[in-house]
Amino acid sequence: MVRNEHSPYLENIAAYAVGALDAEEIAALESHLQTCASCRTELAEYRLLSESMLTAVPPRQPSVALRNRIQSRLPGARKDARPRWNWSPGFTAGALAFVVLLALNVYSVSQMRALQLQQTQLARQYQSGQTVLAMLSYPATERLPIASESLAGSFLLDKDRNLAALIVWKMPQLPEDQTYQIWLIAPQGDRTSAGIFRPEDGQAYTTQIIFPKQGFSNYVGIGVTVEPAGGSDQPTGERVLKVDF
Ligand SMILES: [Zn+2]
Repeated sequence: MVRNEHSPYLENIAAYAVGALDAEEIAALESHLQTCASCRTELAEYRLLSESMLTAVPPRQPSVALRNRIQSRLPGARKDARPRWNWSPGFTAGALAFVVLLALNVYSVSQMRALQLQQTQLARQYQSGQTVLAMLSYPATERLPIASESLAGSFLLDKDRNLAALIVWKMPQLPEDQTYQIWLIAPQGDRTSAGIFRPEDGQAYTTQIIFPKQGFSNYVGIGVTVEPAGGSDQPTGERVLKVDF
């Protein structure tokens, strides 16, 4: 790194950006900043960097020059590093606070995403549960057995409200690149997709609500097959269960 008249100030800007300078250093740096555009730019870049680390989504890449400057200041990166830089308690505390803050932010962002996912899953489970309860309370709801070699469960069908719920006990998880797909079977054998689903982790039952575009009276049953992720236009994979109306 080329040393110039800005060097002593440049070295303090990172510490200044995270509040780790003492009063004397702050006064010296601030008076230099008033007269020096290049150091102001440098400070703005550090602030942008710490801000983008704090908000974290999406992370902004620091410029190569800035990254090199930060790397050159890491302990051990430079033999001639000034002791003051390495041992200043203010800087050490500030750097530590910065690292802790960064770790906490990365942690809370990942926590938040996990919670959001969990909340979506719980909301969906709650809704399916409510629908199943409502269906069970209607006298006209039929409860039909599932025909399968390996799966147990039942199929609730309310033809009046054109609503059905497929409930399967311990449905096996599929690899990421596969999905279950539900097919409505017409009397002549035509298949119409009624949606795709994956069993949820940690749930004994998989509940899938089905709202067909046409009335259930147009169909004679449903089938569930294993299809590539995203589903297929027509069934292509193994059929895991079948229900006859
Ligand atoms: Zn300067």
